[in-house]
Amino acid sequence: MMEYNGSRQPAIPALARETSMQKASDPQPQQIHRIEAAVLRHKGGPLRIETLELAGPRDDEVLVRLAGSGICRTDIDFCDYWSAADGPLVLGHEGAGVVEQVGPAVRSVRPGDHVVLSYLSCGQCPQCLGGRPARCDRFYEANFGFARLDGSNALARSGVRGHFFGQSSFATHTLAGERNIVKVDAGLPLALLAPLGCGLQTGAGTVLNSLAAGPGQSMAIFGTGAVGLAAVMAAAVAGAAPIIGVDVHPSRLALALELGASQAINSSEEDVAARIRAVTGRGVDFVVDTTGSPQLLQLAMDVLNPCGTVALIAGGSGPGELPGGKKTIGIIQGDAVPQRFIPQLLELHLTGRFPFDRLVRFYDFREINQAIADARQGRTIKAVLRISEP
Ligand SMILES: [Zn+2]
Ligand SMILES: [Zn+2]
Repeated sequence: MMEYNGSRQPAIPALARETSMQKASDPQPQQIHRIEAAVLRHKGGPLRIETLELAGPRDDEVLVRLAGSGICRTDIDFCDYWSAADGPLVLGHEGAGVVEQVGPAVRSVRPGDHVVLSYLSCGQCPQCLGGRPARCDRFYEANFGFARLDGSNALARSGVRGHFFGQSSFATHTLAGERNIVKVDAGLPLALLAPLGCGLQTGAGTVLNSLAAGPGQSMAIFGTGAVGLAAVMAAAVAGAAPIIGVDVHPSRLALALELGASQAINSSEEDVAARIRAVTGRGVDFVVDTTGSPQLLQLAMDVLNPCGTVALIAGGSGPGELPGGKKTIGIIQGDAVPQRFIPQLLELHLTGRFPFDRLVRFYDFREINQAIADARQGRTIKAVLRISEP
């Protein structure tokens, strides 16, 4: 195991390559790569950076050297809900990096390409074939199974499980497949792009894809963390109005106003329902809830127009269709097809309409536990680890 040596500059070792002995049960001979990864072995953390052996890539896989990884709420939740029965895990699901090797069946990228990693889908179920991979029949297994879809695990030699969201990006290197990589322009700042793969895609996709909000439609966004602020920026892109941000952190509310919100309500100081009615005259067309709080779901119902929709991002699908025409929908990854949506977000970013860089604070890979602590306490809106230079 490698301990943090106190140096601010990480010394990322070159990949050690050797060809492994082919196991009888494994049809494909695989290289073994020595990598470093932040391993979870205790409930709540901390994560420890360890040297592991990664076997691959397989024919349809890509070996990626990570430049950066975002830290998302789901990573922190997995730390907090971990139990000894889960065994050691590598988390991280907002990776961005450089392709180092490709298996012979890979067509869409080659070594040297820059990629953003996103969620995984099976590619074969009716939902995937219908262009809705976020609703994949095997979504849970593919993203939370800590194994490939065939049950194998590239980190098995080290007794650790990876493949979180088809990536496990808290590492110097990882494997991904063509269904969860998005090729991006090599001239862009690669580590900054990492959070596009989950949090930003989810917030923006909720507004632009799931709700398909249009000009003049009113929207309240509960919780203005990274996902909520992505929703604010997307609502401004859609021309929604008014756009009302609700949070308890004054600094986040101030940022929401700068990023496109027309009103900001501090729910610890103000009567949210009264303010929303005063602003809209009657209620909002959409509520985007990023908090998962049952009290806020009730509040959302109270401030919604008779035919309005509440989008629930933080888990759960709510009661669905309600008397009077109001409804709730559960959101997964903003119903985004990553290979189509992430380039759209980049285009908006380059024209100044999706300035997500304002949310990001960078940390050295070896400061991962500090980054998690800052994200937990709301000191940092979107923490991004710098893992290697692209
Ligand atoms: Zn599928
Ligand atoms: Zn996430």
